Amino acid sequence: MGIILSKMRKKIVAGNWKMNKTLQEGLALATELNNVLTDASPKCEVIIGTPFIHLASVTSAVDTSKIHVSAQNCADKESGAYTGEVSASMIKSTGAEYVILGHSERRAYYGETHEILKEKVRLALKNELKPIFCIGESKEEREANKQNEVVKAQLEGSVFNLSVEEFSKVVLAYEPVWAIGTGLTATPDQAQEIHAYIRSLIAEKYGNEVAEDTTILYGGSCKPNNAKELFANPDVDGGLIGGASLKADDFKAIIDAF
Ligand code: PEP
Repeated sequence: MGIILSKMRKKIVAGNWKMNKTLQEGLALATELNNVLTDASPKCEVIIGTPFIHLASVTSAVDTSKIHVSAQNCADKESGAYTGEVSASMIKSTGAEYVILGHSERRAYYGETHEILKEKVRLALKNELKPIFCIGESKEEREANKQNEVVKAQLEGSVFNLSVEEFSKVVLAYEPVWAIGTGLTATPDQAQEIHAYIRSLIAEKYGNEVAEDTTILYGGSCKPNNAKELFANPDVDGGLIGGASLKADDFKAIIDAF
């Protein structure tokens, strides 16, 4: 028997509600999910990524040992005169545990660069929030076979500056932009190939043990009917789920794919 050096990495199913649900609708969804999971023993950690305004109410309404709560963004500034922004410390004060950073919609529509995201990741960690850091290539980049260099640059630009201790708190989410909200999904082989590549980059930077312990989620039109074959891949540790996280039954079915 060999010595087991690595702790088993965490399996996660995380929902990203995006800009959907009023406060009342969001609370109803979170409560429904909480009820559905009360007697279940999910084989993965469950996270819901809600709009900022839901965070405090949702963390009070659910059993946060069963449903972990995440924001979808945070400011790249600590505090002060930044009208409309929400800081990492404010998010932490709601009881949320995670923050999604670097989502392709934020990169594309709000001009979030590697440098801005590097700062957001730093502030999240400083405030004891765990980043769910999203990376992934566009359709044109995939067609030009540039997906590996794109994800490498995203990692190097925003998270490979972290210490081992800091990096070990980061969850990665590979989300090919061409698969988000389009109904197109990476095939299980495409997902496995790039997840293995991402893990090899982590191994080069931080060593094998850290690489083996890093949770890498797949995101992009992950649904109840394809989650099982995606999650069956050795380097796919769960999913970041957009559309299908807005209905408790669909989200539960994805959780049950483990
Ligand atoms: C997402 O935006 O994180 C996502 C994966 O969306 P969808 O599941 O709707 O493709």
